Amino acid sequence: MYGAVDGRDVTGPMELHPDLSHIVLSEDQIQTRVAELGAEISADYGDESVLMIAVLRGAAIFVADLSRAVSSSVELDFMAVSSYGSSTKSSGVVRILKDLDETIEGRNVLVCEDILDTGLTLKYLLKNLASRKPKTLEVVALLSKEGKQRVPIHCRYVGFDVADEFVVGYGLDYAEKYRNLPYVGVLKPAIYAD
Ligand code: IMP
Repeated sequence: MYGAVDGRDVTGPMELHPDLSHIVLSEDQIQTRVAELGAEISADYGDESVLMIAVLRGAAIFVADLSRAVSSSVELDFMAVSSYGSSTKSSGVVRILKDLDETIEGRNVLVCEDILDTGLTLKYLLKNLASRKPKTLEVVALLSKEGKQRVPIHCRYVGFDVADEFVVGYGLDYAEKYRNLPYVGVLKPAIYAD
């Protein structure tokens, strides 16, 4: 059995996970959009090098694909922040669990996020990173939840606007599960009830 997108069957190597009710973005849709974002980023940075900072753990899968779609010189670094724990509501509490290994002063920094929800996590991160005096500081988010941002965030590149529902897959988790799904989908309500 495959999931359906817009009433069409989604062909792909993996069946719809039994915990999911439906697929929001198919593997093909994601890969096509990631390639487009990569082309846009390559055109913008050109011959300049860019330090892509992935916010762990959700953005790990996205940055792995996106960085390979960028033709400019790319370096990678990682930060981990606490935001959600295993619940599905933003706590608003942000703590750096793992800081960068590299200095970013004078460099082109592109923060890579899996999903922009309330914006609280990114607001904190951007303020923190800006104080380290990068040459440029931009954000790419694979997903942005429509109408949810509680603080204004300038996101230079957005993959997809999605409805305000909790999604998993392609790096996004619920209680650390489902990150390895190649598509993005919605969990069955019964899964939250456990
Ligand atoms: P924000 O601070 O509310 O913008 O939350 C950002 C972080 O919350 C993201 O980087 C995700 O780790 C997590 N998050 C927000 N919405 C979802 C979702 O629908 N599924 C999985 N994780 C989410």
